[in-house]
Amino acid sequence: MTYSTTAIGYPYIGGEREWKKALEAFWRNELTEIDFLQKMKEIRLARIDKQLRIGLDIVTVGDFTLYDRMLDTAVMFGLVPKRFGWQGGKVELQTYYGIARGNQDAVASEMTKWFNTNYHYIVPEFEGQALELTENKILADFLEAKEAFGITAKPTLIGPYTFCKLTKGYDKVSQVAFILALLPLYTQVIKELVTAGANWIQLEEPALVTSLDETEVKLVQEIYIQLAATVPEANIMLQTYFESLAAYKTLIELPVKGIGLDFVHGYTHNMEALRQFGFPQDKVLAAGVINGRDIWRANLAEVSTTVRAIEQLTSAEELWIQSSCSLQHVPISTELETKLEPVLKNALAFADEKLVELTEVAKYLKEKNHATNYTISESMKAIEALKKHSVRNNQAVHRAVQTVSTQDFERQSDFKTRQRIQQQALQLPLFPTTTIGSFPQSDEVKRTRSAWRKKQLSDEAYATFVAQETKRWIEIQENLEIDVLVHGEFERTDMVEYFGEKLTGFAFTEKAWVVSYGSRCVKPPIIYGDVAWATPMTVKETAYAQSLTNRYVKGMLTGPVTILNWSFVRDDIPRKDVTYQIALALRKEVEALEAAGIAIIQVDEPALREGLPLRTENWGAYLDWTVNAFKLATTNVKDETQIHTHMCYCEFNDFIEPISALDADVLSIETSRSHGELIASLHIHPYEKGIGLGVYDIHSPRVPNEQEMLTIMQDSLQVLSTNQFWVNPDCGLKTRKEPETIAALANMVAATKTLRQQI
Ligand code: GLN
Ligand code: ZN
Repeated sequence: MTYSTTAIGYPYIGGEREWKKALEAFWRNELTEIDFLQKMKEIRLARIDKQLRIGLDIVTVGDFTLYDRMLDTAVMFGLVPKRFGWQGGKVELQTYYGIARGNQDAVASEMTKWFNTNYHYIVPEFEGQALELTENKILADFLEAKEAFGITAKPTLIGPYTFCKLTKGYDKVSQVAFILALLPLYTQVIKELVTAGANWIQLEEPALVTSLDETEVKLVQEIYIQLAATVPEANIMLQTYFESLAAYKTLIELPVKGIGLDFVHGYTHNMEALRQFGFPQDKVLAAGVINGRDIWRANLAEVSTTVRAIEQLTSAEELWIQSSCSLQHVPISTELETKLEPVLKNALAFADEKLVELTEVAKYLKEKNHATNYTISESMKAIEALKKHSVRNNQAVHRAVQTVSTQDFERQSDFKTRQRIQQQALQLPLFPTTTIGSFPQSDEVKRTRSAWRKKQLSDEAYATFVAQETKRWIEIQENLEIDVLVHGEFERTDMVEYFGEKLTGFAFTEKAWVVSYGSRCVKPPIIYGDVAWATPMTVKETAYAQSLTNRYVKGMLTGPVTILNWSFVRDDIPRKDVTYQIALALRKEVEALEAAGIAIIQVDEPALREGLPLRTENWGAYLDWTVNAFKLATTNVKDETQIHTHMCYCEFNDFIEPISALDADVLSIETSRSHGELIASLHIHPYEKGIGLGVYDIHSPRVPNEQEMLTIMQDSLQVLSTNQFWVNPDCGLKTRKEPETIAALANMVAATKTLRQQI
């Protein structure tokens, strides 16, 4: 058996986010195109250099981008939406960034989640254009690496099936035409790479781990048979990741030279499939054994055992040892962190450390010297040390999670009873108006917070400032005659960080950025220990706001599933248990708010849908424990206390059951851009609880007029009853400016008053 190490892809943002900075400087015209491209080249080469120094056998190229790799692929094939007025030939940067971000004349292409990650790609649009190869960028990257380092890198491309599946704009008939136009271009790109000396070409096909029906499997076969016929000389590594390969028995026989499987996220099914069907002798197996999605050091003894077990089950003669997916989903290096406690830091592995792990595993397997491998035993020691850390041994929390019972998931009375009681107690008008929580984070708010963080401002002065801003906005809301007020969230930067800093078990990094979309990067907190409620987190601000007004002020919390899905999460206990820990902590906060006299409490779950498994057959289990976690956080209140929740999407058709199962008294959802669809689905799946439809889009500075919002409300009342209907914008207002916010809310309240008169 021969072993080679490789990564499916490596982060491109740079340890100091120099990629992001260069990009944004170029957009601001602070860098010329030449200087910008030169900077990008430096970053590209530096990351190859790093991977070579670590000792990776096969370095990947083509995993770098100037914005997004799906967009790169689309542009490479001339898939430029007509509204950008492109005339053929090379696609200039101006057009490229136009598609990504929109320009004066044309709106940007849609952006959506890359499988089950928090990365978002640009959705290619097929409009029947004639496709052409505009530029073989992958070849350029391949040659660049050859020239700079004398290496034969492995070029990577998003594979034709995945690319086609994620492109929009075709129907069953035009899909055939689209694929027929696409395949010769893939062939051409691959041919040019082979001619230039590429030994291996990686085609990334994550779509092959989703649920595939028979026609889809057929299509995949046809695509790869066609490629094998037109470029028989190419060694294609068909790369899958994020889950186990669907239709293993059939797809494993595709006419390619190698297949990559994810033995981390798809471990059970891929192993089972290997056991049952084996692995073809004439192919190279690329085994994803180091987790490309998490930040934890791997137990290298276990990883080596996994590789051995895989070896036993295949007749392949060559094995690649690789990360389970591109390392783009993890930060670059733990070496950049200076403030983490050593026990934690030592148990972390970001992209660079993961590459080291790959090389160590390969060395270990080659030498077969079990006892002496230093790194292997070090990895076990680091994991063991963190396991013993007091932060993971809060017995009270463990006991509390173990003793959670089904009763803890239920409110005292059913919804109908609560609705009656709450109407009596709260005496809200028909169609109560409210907002989602945050108000504009003005430059002054941001500046003051940052001064306080840098200790240039005392705790007291900062608290005074936040209180002033809250007071000002309570007055604004009263003047607007909004019915249920919010305190405005001025003390929060971020929905998760704010709570993470006050709960136990969280750690925060300095430089652990990952790209979320385009140049936007996020720095998720790390949940590394037991999560427990330590101190009231929102009571002071909420009670203060409530003391200023006779109207109700909603308490505002981030839900357990959203906190989970927007963090890096410990892997030593099930995600469900971590979520229950968070839920139990939030339950205490909900109790504290109620005790402080807060009658309405909103628990946001915008990321509930984000965590859905890739295979639909696994949705049920996920929804079971996530719904229960939400209920655990919210059910321990009096019938009079009204629980709200909020979500930032409205794919209602396949989601109404779990949403209703949350048993929140009122739900607010983002519907302003698609209320027609929502109304259609509410026709089919009636919803009985309180529901606030987003009547205007907060993502744009535009101020909608009264009539527009009134129409949305009138239409909605065809499928919703008068006593369940709430009125609100479709998300929090923190990114908006003050004047447009006030103007839009004034129109919203006016529309509501008109509606009340019409009833
Ligand atoms: N309460 C949060 C806010 O208003 C909700 C944000 C969100 O849904 N993403 O900002
Ligand atoms: Zn939202």
